[in-house]
Amino acid sequence: MVLGLALLAVIVVLVGLYLLFYGGFDGPIEWAMKGRTQRTLETQAKVVALTFDDGPDPVRTPALLDVLAEQRAPATFFVLGDAAEMHPGVIARIARDGHELGNHTYSHRYLPLARSRSVERELAQTDRAIATAAGVIPKVARPPWGGRRPGTVRAFARLAKRLVTWDVNSDDWKGAPADALVARVLERTRPGSIILMHEARTGGEVTIEAVRKLIPALRARGYELVTVSAGTQLA
Ligand SMILES: [Zn+2]
Repeated sequence: MVLGLALLAVIVVLVGLYLLFYGGFDGPIEWAMKGRTQRTLETQAKVVALTFDDGPDPVRTPALLDVLAEQRAPATFFVLGDAAEMHPGVIARIARDGHELGNHTYSHRYLPLARSRSVERELAQTDRAIATAAGVIPKVARPPWGGRRPGTVRAFARLAKRLVTWDVNSDDWKGAPADALVARVLERTRPGSIILMHEARTGGEVTIEAVRKLIPALRARGYELVTVSAGTQLA
């Protein structure tokens, strides 16, 4: 009896934690957030969006921008406010090169553990850093690790941000070689996919090398590369 109650309590706590601290995956809690998360471009057209999180990095991000410029491929950069303040020139170049800037919070906090007001502050500070550097205010934002709860989603909505996650995780941070990253992404990509990558991290050179090979491979399969907002408008 006591054991049964203890087990029940554990289950209740686990379900409660799941409901409260929900990461970047599909799940039943999505109904409480009124389906406001955008995981794909929501189109059957053969378009895909490359997205790069956690930058800008003063060396790796320009190296990636060189590859994207060579291949004339647009992408979307979900940047951090603190890094944007440190490297405004890189933010300005991202915009100048025709890419989309997205808001990835100021300090890369796990938002399900943050108060709604802190979430709003994180987004607003990052907007200011991006606007100062590039003269644009992002329309899209992505919570770190995709982590969100209903209060997070409402805070994003109050700042007029579309909450964008991804459907294809390159897992590039795990350290696989470039060819393996390319194969993994190609295998998972569907029309309208949003692909998650990280060029700014230590080891991001491998991601950049993968992108150099991935873009022609996607085009050979009939995909057009778009920014998140341009691709979503096509839907
Ligand atoms: Zn991140």
